[in-house]
Amino acid sequence: MKKHNFSAGPSILPQEVLQKAAKAVIDYNNEGLSLIEMSHRSKAFIDIMEHSRALVLELLGLEGKGYQVLFLQGGASLQFLMTAMNLLEKKAGYVNTGAWSEKAIKEAQKIGDIIEVVSSKDANFNYIPKGYNVPSDLDYLHLTSNNTIFGTQIKSFPTTNVPLVCDMSSDIFSRVLDFTQFDLIYAGAQKNMGPAGTTLVVVKEDLLGKVSRNIPAILDYQKHIGADSMLNTPPVFAVYTSMLTLEWLKNEGGIAAIEEANEKKATLMYSEIDLNPLFKGFAAVEDRSPMNATFNLVNEDLKETFDAMLKEAGISGVNGHRSVGGYRASMYNALPIESVQALVEVMSELENKA
Ligand code: PLP
Repeated sequence: MKKHNFSAGPSILPQEVLQKAAKAVIDYNNEGLSLIEMSHRSKAFIDIMEHSRALVLELLGLEGKGYQVLFLQGGASLQFLMTAMNLLEKKAGYVNTGAWSEKAIKEAQKIGDIIEVVSSKDANFNYIPKGYNVPSDLDYLHLTSNNTIFGTQIKSFPTTNVPLVCDMSSDIFSRVLDFTQFDLIYAGAQKNMGPAGTTLVVVKEDLLGKVSRNIPAILDYQKHIGADSMLNTPPVFAVYTSMLTLEWLKNEGGIAAIEEANEKKATLMYSEIDLNPLFKGFAAVEDRSPMNATFNLVNEDLKETFDAMLKEAGISGVNGHRSVGGYRASMYNALPIESVQALVEVMSELENKA
C-alpha cells in the first residue's frame, strides 16, 4: 500500500512524475540512453534545462521582467552564503522567523555586516512579526516565506525600496503572490518542485554586479547566468524531475489552482486541530502555514496509542521537529486531499476512543 506521505522534505511528488522520472532513468525518450548517463551538453538535456527555466518564469508570472532562473547545487543552505556573497556590500537586514532564518543569518555574518531587523524568537517562533520598520540603507532584506519547522507563513511582505531576498524553500509554487516584489527567490527543490539535489534561484539581473569582493566563480550568480545555468555539470536527474513537476503543475491549472487545493487541505486539517479537544495547534492562527501544520497532543499519555493508529492507517512523516515536538503534517502541492482526510479520521477516532 502506498503510504500517506506527510514528510517535511524530501517529500511527496506526483505519481505521474515519479513514473516518468523512473522511465527516464532506464531509457530517456526511447533514445537508448539513461537520462543520468547522457551528456549535459547534449541537445536533449539543453532542451530540458531551457524548458525548466522557462516554465519557472511562466508559472511565477515573471516572463520578460528581467529575471534569470538558475538550477544550482548545494541546497538552500548554500544560498544562505551565496546571497550574501553576491549582494552584501555594506549592511543587510534579516527577519528572523525560525531555525532556517537563523542559519541564513549565521552564514551572512561570515561575509559582512548584518542586522536582525525583527525576530519572533521570544515565543519559540510561533508567530510572524508584523509592523516593523525596514531601514532604508540596507543592501537587501532577507525573509523566510514559510517556516517549515514551526508551521508559520508570511502572508504579506514588507513594502520597501530595499531589495527583498526570500527563502521560499517550503512554499514555492504553492500560492499566488506578486513575485515581482522579490529581487531574489531561492528554494531547495525537495518539497514542492522535485528531488533533493538542485536549488532554484530566481534573480533579477540588475541586482547583480554591485559588490566589490572577488566572488569565487562557482558562487557567482553572474557566472552561472553567463553559462545558462551550466557552469559545471548540473544535477541532471533533479532538474529533469523538477521540469516534470512544473509541467504537472501547469497542467493542473498553475499556481492559482494548486493554491485552491492547498487551502482546502489546510482548512480540513486546521479545523480538526481546532475542534478536537485532544490537540492543540502550535502556530498563531493568523500565521498558520497551509504547507506545514504543527500541533501537539494536549495529553502526551495518548502518544503511544495515536502513533500506533497512525502507523496502522499508513500515515508517515508526521513527527514534529525536535524544537517543537508533537506532530507536523506537511501538505505540499502533490499531497492529495484523501491523505489529509485519512489523518483527520485517525485524529477523530482517537477522540472517540479517549
Ligand atoms: N530553508 C527552509 C525554509 C527549509 O525548510 C530548508 C530545509 O528544510 C532549508 C532552507 C535548507 O534546505 P537544504 O537542505 O536544501 O539546504
